[in-house]
Amino acid sequence: METMPFEFATAGRIVFGDGAASEVAPAAAAMGRRALLVTGQGTERAAALARALEAAGVVAVPFRVSGEPSIGTIAAGAAYARGEGCDVVVAMGGGSAIDAGKALAVMLTNPGEPLDYLEVVGRGQPLRQPSAPFIAVPTTAGTGSEVTRNAVLAAPERGVKASLRSPFLLARLAVVDPELTLDLPPALTASTGLDALTQLIEPYVSVRANPMTDLYTMEGLRTAGASLPRAWANGGDRAARRGMCWASLLGGLSLANAGLGAVHGFAAPVGGMFPAPHGAVCAALLAAAMEINLEALRQRAPESRALARYDEVGRLLTGKPHSTAADGIEWIAALCRRFEIPPLRAYGVTASDIPLLASRAAEASSMKANPIKLTREELEEIIRRAI
Ligand SMILES: [Zn+2]
Repeated sequence: METMPFEFATAGRIVFGDGAASEVAPAAAAMGRRALLVTGQGTERAAALARALEAAGVVAVPFRVSGEPSIGTIAAGAAYARGEGCDVVVAMGGGSAIDAGKALAVMLTNPGEPLDYLEVVGRGQPLRQPSAPFIAVPTTAGTGSEVTRNAVLAAPERGVKASLRSPFLLARLAVVDPELTLDLPPALTASTGLDALTQLIEPYVSVRANPMTDLYTMEGLRTAGASLPRAWANGGDRAARRGMCWASLLGGLSLANAGLGAVHGFAAPVGGMFPAPHGAVCAALLAAAMEINLEALRQRAPESRALARYDEVGRLLTGKPHSTAADGIEWIAALCRRFEIPPLRAYGVTASDIPLLASRAAEASSMKANPIKLTREELEEIIRRAI
């Protein structure tokens, strides 16, 4: 085996499978007495979990987030949770609810406010105290947030998003129950599923990919390629839903340990400046970013291992042994057409936004793992093709 030192970290425990959500309440009871229960809009399911917690002897203190959490939401929520004496945090929902839960769990035990610790827009100080125990229960198959070590927060007045990032943000327990995703509507299945796909491709071609993340990304791409079209066409297809939860989890494991790339480099400023859901933004950018990365690699780094990896992406997604990088890009573009993924202009992005978006993307933390450093012109071309 060639020398390839690496590090790998993930949630303390992962429970995966149909019906796994029944594990949440007893696990929470072993971690604390008063749970901050962070949820998105799904109130019915949240009420059922609150009842299960109470039955297990845990007081549930509800906290709802609508959309991606802002710095202000987290500052206010942490003060509320402290006042309520919460000693464990349970988050159930999409990536926004889970990221909010992570941020609240770490702000429960660390002094000050989120801006003290935020990268890019804040003071970037290291978080010094372990989080309150945190349980993540995803209800979408896309973000992998249940096993990542960052929480994305919006700074609406600055028009950007930035992350709290620390190994302390890893969940004590991640419960992935594919049954929770059965009622996702097709449009959400499409956008979250394409986020999962992006979060497998970018870590696979990343400069920080390691032998362990390679296992996960390749398995995830094979599974997502077979499952995503089926889960979208028939939401009740349990095997396909299971496949997408598995692919999403593998994407989370991979991105947390190998980083991302240009698509997520752009997703942060686009999502910060325009009211566009993260998955839809990634979907609109993915094919263009792959095309530009390939052109740049062929011109300036023809020996890069990422080139062969893009061909492998084509084979894994199409399931055909002779597919190439171009076939993979066409497979993705065709899926986006079938899913009716809108271009970024649908969210108000125009040609006049290109220079600012390219500048901000160049500064984004995700861009550091892109397989090649892109020029200013190349960055602008990615966003131009996605508009
Ligand atoms: Zn993403």
